[in-house]
Amino acid sequence: MGIDLRIAGGEVVLPGGRRQADVLVEDGKIAGIVSPGLELSDVGRTVDASGKLVLPGMVDPHVHTREPGFTHKEDITTTGLAAAAGGVTTIFGMPNLKPPTSSAKLLDEVFELYAAKSVVDYNHNPAATDPDEIAPMVERGIRAFKIFMVVDTGRTYPHPAGTGMHNHGDLLRTMDLIAPTGLPFMIHPHDQALMDYIEGEILARGDNTPQGYAQAYAARQGVIWDTACDVLIRLSEASDCHVHLMHMQTPRSIEAVRRAKARGIKITCEVNHWALFLGTWDLVERLGPYVLSYWVPDENREAIWKGLNDGTIDMLSSDHAPHTREEKEVGWEKMWSAHTGTPGIQYQLPLIVEAAVHEGKLSLERAVELCASVPAHTFGLGEVKGALEVGLDADVAILDADRAWTISNDADLSRCGWTPYDGRDIRVAVDRTFLRGTEIYADGVVTGVPGGGRMATAPAVATAA
Ligand SMILES: [Zn+2]
Repeated sequence: MGIDLRIAGGEVVLPGGRRQADVLVEDGKIAGIVSPGLELSDVGRTVDASGKLVLPGMVDPHVHTREPGFTHKEDITTTGLAAAAGGVTTIFGMPNLKPPTSSAKLLDEVFELYAAKSVVDYNHNPAATDPDEIAPMVERGIRAFKIFMVVDTGRTYPHPAGTGMHNHGDLLRTMDLIAPTGLPFMIHPHDQALMDYIEGEILARGDNTPQGYAQAYAARQGVIWDTACDVLIRLSEASDCHVHLMHMQTPRSIEAVRRAKARGIKITCEVNHWALFLGTWDLVERLGPYVLSYWVPDENREAIWKGLNDGTIDMLSSDHAPHTREEKEVGWEKMWSAHTGTPGIQYQLPLIVEAAVHEGKLSLERAVELCASVPAHTFGLGEVKGALEVGLDADVAILDADRAWTISNDADLSRCGWTPYDGRDIRVAVDRTFLRGTEIYADGVVTGVPGGGRMATAPAVATAA
C-alpha cells in the first residue's frame, strides 16, 4: 500500500463525528481512516497520537500578513510560523498592504511572495476597487474579494485608501460585477457617517482614550455595525451577490443574518478570536490599545455563542492583525492615532477547543466545522481541504486537550513580538501540525520552511490555469 505516515491512536474528529481511529497519509493526501491496531505493512512513519485529539488543519480566510509594505509588523514567513504553531495550515491574506492589492498585476506580485515565503498553504483576497480588474483577478485563482467600509480619519492604517468603499452605489455596482463569478465578497461592515457623528461627539469632549474609543464603536447597542450589516444584507439580496460579513459582534446584526439566511439571501459571516476571548471591559481598562480591535460587551458575547452554535455564524477566522508596540503605545494617550487590531493566529484553535472541551460553550465537532470545514466549503476549497476525509489534503493538527500551559510573549512567533493573551492560562496545546502530510510543527518547534506552502484554490481553477 505504501503509506507514508500513520497518525495512530488518537481521537479523530471526522465529518460524521469523532471516534478512535488512525489516519493514513500517502503522497500528501489522506489515504484512509482505519481502526486502531489494524495490521498494515509498509508504513513509513508512525506518530503516536494516543490521548490526543486529531483535527483537520485550520483554514483561516482572514489573515493580515502585512507583506508587502508593513514588514516591520509581520511578514508572510512570520505569519506562517505562528500559523503552523497554531494548527493553521491554510491562510488567506488581506489586501490592506502597500501597495494595496487592487489589480491583477499587484496580485501576481503578492502570489510570488507567498510562493517564496509561505510556510503554510495560502490564497489572497484582493480589494475589489477597480471594476476592470475583477475578471483578471478571478482568473488568478482567488477565492474571495475584500472591501473595508471604513475610511480612517486621522490615521493611515489599518484601513488605507485603496481598500475602502462605503458609498452604497459603489457597493451595489461592485456586487453586480462579483455576483456572476460566484465568489464571496468579504466586507468589513461600518457606517462611516454614523462613525463621524459618534466619534466626533466623544473627541469633542476631549476623550481620546481607549475607553472612549471602545465606547464609540459599541455606542447605542452597536448602531454603527448594525446599520452597515442591514445595508449589506439588502444589497446582497438586490444583487444576488454572496456577501461575507466580517467581525460579527452585535446581537442585532446576528439576528439580521439569521433572518436573511432564512429568506435564502446569500449571506455568510465570521467571528474573530478577539470577540470571544478578548475585549471585555476589564481588559479594555488593563490592556487598552493592545486589545482593541473592538470592545464586545458581555451581553453581545452571549448572542455570539448562540450564533456560533445554531449556524447563524458560519465560521471563526483569526483576523490576525499584528502591530508593533510603538503603534499600540500611542493609544494610551491618543487612541484614535493607534493602529487597531490584534494578533492571534497562534492561539485561536487551542482557545476554541478549550471552550469546547473544558467550558462546554460548543461541541468539539462544531469547533472543527467553524475552523476548518465551513471556511473550506464557503471559499470553494471543500474538495481539497477542511476535513479528515479520504482524498483530501493531509492537513492535520494534533492537539493535547489536557495540557496546562501559559501563553507568553516569549514564545510568540509573530514579528510584533507580543500577544494580548500573554499570561493567560490555557488547558489545550497544539502538539503537531502537518501540511499535506509534511510535519511543519512539532513540540514547540516550527519545522515547516518558507516556500513550503502552496496556493490553495479550487481544483477546477487549478486545472484551468
Ligand atoms: Zn481584518
